[in-house]
Formats: sequence, C-alpha cells, structure tokens
Amino acid sequence: MSSLIFNKFWRAAIVVIGNEILIGRVLDTNSHKVAKMLTLIGYDVTEIRKVRDEVEAIAKAVKELMLDNGVIITTGGLGPTYDDVTAEAISFATGIPLCLKEDALEMIEKRLKDLGLELDNARKKMAILPCTAVPIPNPVGVAPGIAMFMPRTKIFSLPGVPKEMEAMMESYVLPLLEKENLVARAEACEVLENVREADIANEVGSFAKEHPEAYVKSHPDIEGGRSYVKLCIMASAESKEDAERKAKTLLKSLVNRVQQGNL
Ligand code: ATP
Repeated sequence: MSSLIFNKFWRAAIVVIGNEILIGRVLDTNSHKVAKMLTLIGYDVTEIRKVRDEVEAIAKAVKELMLDNGVIITTGGLGPTYDDVTAEAISFATGIPLCLKEDALEMIEKRLKDLGLELDNARKKMAILPCTAVPIPNPVGVAPGIAMFMPRTKIFSLPGVPKEMEAMMESYVLPLLEKENLVARAEACEVLENVREADIANEVGSFAKEHPEAYVKSHPDIEGGRSYVKLCIMASAESKEDAERKAKTLLKSLVNRVQQGNL
C-alpha cells in the first residue's frame, strides 16, 4: 500500500500477547481492530506478531520491531495475574528499569474506588512499570496502559480485553498519533454480484497500475452457491473528508470500468 510518506516514523507494528491466542482458545480480534485504526490515520502496519506470555518472547519481538517501526502497539498481559508480564518485558526490551509509579497507583486507586474495590498486592503490581513510562488511563477496567516515548519509537501497551483496548486506543493513542500525522485514509467498497474475480482481473489490475497512490483490491467470496466480488479502494489525502471523496470517486470509476469490460 502506498502512503504519502514512507519512512520508519510512519511504520507501525502490533504485538499480540497471550498463550490463549496461540493455543486457539481465543480468536485474536485486537490486532484486526488496531491495524484498521492505525491504517486509517495514515500508518503503514508492517507486521503483526503473536507471542506467548513470556518476558523473553515479548521483549524479543518488541526489540526487533523497534528497529524499523515508529509505533508499536502491544495488547495483553497488563493485568494482576502471574502470567501478566508485559511491563517487565517492555522494561527488558527498552533497558529502562521498573519502578512503582505513583501516577499509575493513583489511577488504579481511583478506578478501584469507583468500582467499590480494595487495593491489594495483586492490583498494586499493575503500577510497577518502566520508570519513564506514562500510564494510560483505563476508562473501562483497572489496569493502566503503558506509553513509552523512546527516541525513535513510541510503544503503547494496552490490555488484552477488547473493550479496554479499544477504549484506550480511542481516548489516548489515536488522538495523540493523529496530532502528528500528515495523512488520513479512507476506504470505499462495493459488492458486485454474480461476478468471478478472474473475469475482472485485467480491469482491476490495470486500474491499480494507473493509481499507485491508492490501494486497490478485489475480495472474492461465495455465499449460497453465488459468487461475488467486493471491490475496495483505500485512498490517502491530507484530511479525512478529502480521502473519503477520493476513495468514492476512484471506486465509482473502477466499478464503471469493470462493468463496461464485462458487457
Ligand atoms: P486483565 O486485566 O483481564 O488481566 P490483560 O491485559 O492481562 O487484562 P489478558 O489477560 O492478556 O489481558 O487478556 C484478557 C482477556 O482478553 C483474555 O482472556 C481474552 O478473552 C481477551 N483477549 C486477550 N487478547 C485478545 C486478543 N488479541 N483478541 C481478542 N481478545 C483477547
């Protein structure tokens, strides 16, 4: 996919943490949502890694991805249980030691008070973060997220629970990243019924070549014996509104071209 600016700053990676994902008990929906959110604000998501709840595995992934990504989002492993080791792994990956963070502890105490719960040692553990971390408020649950502003990479560690992860992306991560970005993206799609992908491949291919500034893709599927193709265009522009307009206009001309080619 092309973007207006393609350098490390605009590259993002996602690390999904959890044995439950790797044994197939839980379907990873977090990376799907985060990838879409980052793409729509102009980031190029380069990689999604899924790792076990182990300090070494998480730290290795984060350290490697820091080499050529400006943003890393991790999900999972922030809670109070023995297998929640993300803070320790981020400390390991960045070389920044762990501290009991007063600001994080205050956030936890406030959330517990709202929920009528007591602070205990298990919950206190959630305030032990890398010393330079900025805790991210959790509007849904208790565990704060972690924001690390490293010299060339920002790392955001968010909870695994999808509602908590989404709330933190929307209330903290996206507004912060959107302030810096120069590019917005928008997507427009249309379903063409009773069409096979091979029949429109030439038109779609030549259209994609003529519009390298957009991401042109056909998605074939079959439902109840009926073949259909969903055509999607993702366009970039300086504002969301312009990107939406561009995506819709390009899609319209692609659909016209495909329909004429199949008369
Ligand atoms: P908690 O405060 O609940 O301990 P956490 O940050 O420690 O949060 P996990 O324990 O890793 O998160 O995950 C909590 C739950 O969220 C999991 O049991 C699972 O149901 C769900 N979950 C975790 N990761 C994902 C994911 N990638 N996609 C969808 N659901 C997930």
